[in-house]
Amino acid sequence: MTTPFLLRYRKVVVAAAEATNTLAQAFIELNDPSISSNTIHLQVYTYNELFRQQIRNALGPLDRLFGNSVDRSVLSRLLLIQGYLHSDLSPGIEVTLSRASGAKPDTLSLSIAPNTGTRPALSALLRKLRSERRSIRAWPVWPALRVGEPGRGFHTGGTFPMRSDPREFETDELGRPYGLSRVHVVDASVFPSLPATTITLSVMANAHRIGSAAAG
Ligand SMILES: Cc1cc2nc3c(=O)[nH]c(=O)nc-3n(C[C@H](O)[C@H](O)[C@H](O)COP(=O)(O)OP(=O)(O)OC[C@H]3O[C@@H](n4cnc5c(N)ncnc54)[C@H](O)[C@@H]3O)c2cc1C
Repeated sequence: MTTPFLLRYRKVVVAAAEATNTLAQAFIELNDPSISSNTIHLQVYTYNELFRQQIRNALGPLDRLFGNSVDRSVLSRLLLIQGYLHSDLSPGIEVTLSRASGAKPDTLSLSIAPNTGTRPALSALLRKLRSERRSIRAWPVWPALRVGEPGRGFHTGGTFPMRSDPREFETDELGRPYGLSRVHVVDASVFPSLPATTITLSVMANAHRIGSAAAG
């Protein structure tokens, strides 16, 4: 998950005073095979009070100097993007269970499996947003980009991926873990990969498919 800012060409002077909610105001689905063979999902958020705090932190002592002009010039134009890449371009997490030995209990440990594709994809995304600045009428503020730690995103799964010919730690097309015939996993754990887009409806549809087949 990444969070760059966009600075709009046009101001909305009342943005900071507007009574609104903090949900995403728009989704941008970017399909550009030169960046990713899968959709890149960008959620666009308009002003909330945390933007002000973020600017204050960035400016430090200079914030007092600029005073209300920051609100007028920056906050009235600022949009936050919460961006997601497909799991093929995201780091993974490896889970290892070490069996108890002596006084040491069973231990489950998590470690990061880095993905070398992440940074180049983000750079290409920046170039794309820059090249589209006239159509979106906004500048990407890339120095403010934050790349989330692995596992920080809200779309997780693929722990026991579905395969047509599953092996250990995988599931079959009905979500049955390898070696089990009457247990079905029906949540996002069985996704073979994770799209960047929101996944709940796909999770529900897949659970329904497995449930219907198992009951039929
Ligand atoms: C802040 C946030 C915002 C999100 N926004 C969106 C959005 O706008 N749109 C969207 O599509 N998705 C969104 N998501 C993602 C979405 O919530 C998840 O992708 C979705 O809930 C995954 O469904 P699931 O059935 O795989 O897992 P879950 O919904 O997590 O269900 C797993 C269930 O298993 C239970 N469980 C776990 N371990 C055990 C156990 N040992 N025994 C018994 N039960 C167990 C848990 O209690 C849980 O009820 C968001 C997620 C977060 C955290």
